[in-house]
Amino acid sequence: MAHHNKILDGKVLAEDILSTVGQQYTRAAPRHQPKLSIVQIGRLDASNLYIRKKIEACAKLGFATQHLQLPETITENTLRQTITDLNNDQNTHGILLQLPLPAHINSSHMIACIDPQKDVDAIGPFHLGNLVQQSSVITPCTTAAVLTLLDATNLPLHQLRTTIIGASSLVGLPTAIALSSRTTVSVCHRVTRDLSPYVRQADVLVVAIGNPHVIQAEWIQPGTTVIDVGINRCSTGRIIGDIPFNDVIDKVRHITPVPGGVGPLTVAHMVKNLWTLFTHHCLNNISYDLSNH
Ligand code: NAD
Repeated sequence: MAHHNKILDGKVLAEDILSTVGQQYTRAAPRHQPKLSIVQIGRLDASNLYIRKKIEACAKLGFATQHLQLPETITENTLRQTITDLNNDQNTHGILLQLPLPAHINSSHMIACIDPQKDVDAIGPFHLGNLVQQSSVITPCTTAAVLTLLDATNLPLHQLRTTIIGASSLVGLPTAIALSSRTTVSVCHRVTRDLSPYVRQADVLVVAIGNPHVIQAEWIQPGTTVIDVGINRCSTGRIIGDIPFNDVIDKVRHITPVPGGVGPLTVAHMVKNLWTLFTHHCLNNISYDLSNH
């Protein structure tokens, strides 16, 4: 198979999602603009890049954004107050707390402070609970990106074995939960003693580690579909994933490039989630929809 037929192009799929949301927005012509408020603590290089992409995607559709940059030394109390203020701000429809947070701040406590009606990343307990119960209104953005990519392959997932490496509450775990009703999932993480048998058995391999040296090319079997969530910056400044792309491209069935795979789709799904939260807000039925779904 030619290489270009194997590469799952996240940019094209992301454009489709953004254009659908854009059309819905134009058609609805609401009186107010959907608005995303991004809270950034410190000025991590990688975070600056992701935030820029999210602001650009919103701007393209005519959605408003606000970027709050708070100092690295912020206390939990002050951050909690900032989030509460945004929860109460009528003009903010989505709150995005850019992770990772500094070590002295408890991320899960802060995420739990975000009103579920504004939790655009869908990573708070309310949305994760709904994901477990298969009654989500919105899905965590990176998980939604992985699902979109797998849908694009048309693979019969129910017949296949899927291995997910990485089990964070942001990426690996929600993805495992979302996929577990559609395929047979094994989840591996830092304490897994030997990853190789789990990688070898995978028809579908989703990797979200954040380290390009863990997964070995020879573990990946011919015909595997590989979704590479990892983002790593080399000493040269180049961005690479968790998978040795060039060493496996000849034998895989599908693979996502990094950059240009999961990343743009994650941003597109964030914008889609913002639009969903906004429309629920405008219809004034969010409490019904988000609590009774
Ligand atoms: P994290 O650090 O919170 O979690 C990493 C996971 O990998 C943990 O479960 C850990 O146990 C596991 N892990 C670490 N080293 C391992 C090893 N040697 N063997 C097996 N498992 C190991 O990171 P995260 O937030 O889940 O993100 C993971 C990667 O995905 C990062 O590179 C991040 O930048 C990237 N990411 C990409 C997107 C995107 O849109 N493409 C979105 C979010 C995160």
